[in-house]
Amino acid sequence: MTSLPGLLADIRTLVECESPSSDLAAVARSAEVVARVGAAHLGREPERIVLDGVTHLRWRPLEGPGRVLLLGHHDTVWPLGSLAARPCTITNTSPDTGAGPVLRGPGCFDMLAGLAMAFHAAVGLEGVTILVTGDEELGSPTSRGLVEEEARRCDAVLVLEASADGGALKTERKGVSLYDVGVRGHAAHAGLEPERGINATVELAHQVLAVTRLADPAAGTTVTPTLAGAGTTTNTVPAAGAFSVDVRVRTIAEQERVDAAMRALRPVLPGAQLEITGGPNRPPLEASASAGLLARAHRVAESLGLEPLTTAAVGGASDGNFAAGVGTPTLDGLGAVGGGAHAEHEHVLVDRLVDRTRLLRGLLVDLLTDPPTTDRPDLRASATATRP
Ligand SMILES: [Zn+2]
Repeated sequence: MTSLPGLLADIRTLVECESPSSDLAAVARSAEVVARVGAAHLGREPERIVLDGVTHLRWRPLEGPGRVLLLGHHDTVWPLGSLAARPCTITNTSPDTGAGPVLRGPGCFDMLAGLAMAFHAAVGLEGVTILVTGDEELGSPTSRGLVEEEARRCDAVLVLEASADGGALKTERKGVSLYDVGVRGHAAHAGLEPERGINATVELAHQVLAVTRLADPAAGTTVTPTLAGAGTTTNTVPAAGAFSVDVRVRTIAEQERVDAAMRALRPVLPGAQLEITGGPNRPPLEASASAGLLARAHRVAESLGLEPLTTAAVGGASDGNFAAGVGTPTLDGLGAVGGGAHAEHEHVLVDRLVDRTRLLRGLLVDLLTDPPTTDRPDLRASATATRP
């Protein structure tokens, strides 16, 4: 059922309908194409779920509960017109890799090829839910609840995002917290009576340095001040300022530690005031959430005679973070092998499409015939406790 020409034809069909996340009409058109390709393999239409104008697709099993969730997105980062500049092509030599034919086209690697693989892998299997969202590249503002709901209903989540280098599965993704720190001081003339002011720029500088000290490189925690600004004119003691903070963590415990510390920031200058807004945005996909599924994937790959699997921990987040955040075992990066996500040289290695689809199907069959028995009360409890 997994033929290379069939996979390539489906990937081309998906790539040739552009779907930039912020263009709701384009996303709706793309959803119809995805629905058609999916229905051809699964034998039935998806539910179209439109939230704030964004079109998501869901195939739940005809009977019984969904036990395994295949998770993907059909939006891309590429604006309309990208396809005309870089059409979908298959070339026989790869300048990027020097190995085998490559398929190119906007969104092919992240992650339209993964969608085609999912449809091919799920043919004829009962118990599989497929959720294809339309706003992942924006951080899933409308689909987060859908992802969490379906993940809660299933025993395992397989994410069709592109693999890491060389086909590595993504067994760990950092969680993300975002903050804005507002600083309020008091304006005064910088020449006549600066001593009467409370300098928001100076207070901001204190807070920027305090925030950077919350990082813990050994734990994999980064705390990065990003945007910053203060003041109104060059000769006024600034009355107000603000800066943004990007936090990346490997564990929920670290996300909570940094959150508590951010909220405990206190002004240094007498009379200055702080306002801290924001908080955890995506929970981490911890290595413990993928370990059981990874062990299965190793077994399946070996039994199918596939190359040994490699793994990677990555800083970027995906919907896999939300799935793992509700406590369901989650394995990410099961999509295409290739490179150049969000970049001009985006490509998919054609020779790896069939073996990756066989791996995916093997994993599905394994999970459906031998469901995970290990509930994860530890993860479930801590994940629930930190949900906003
Ligand atoms: Zn993606």
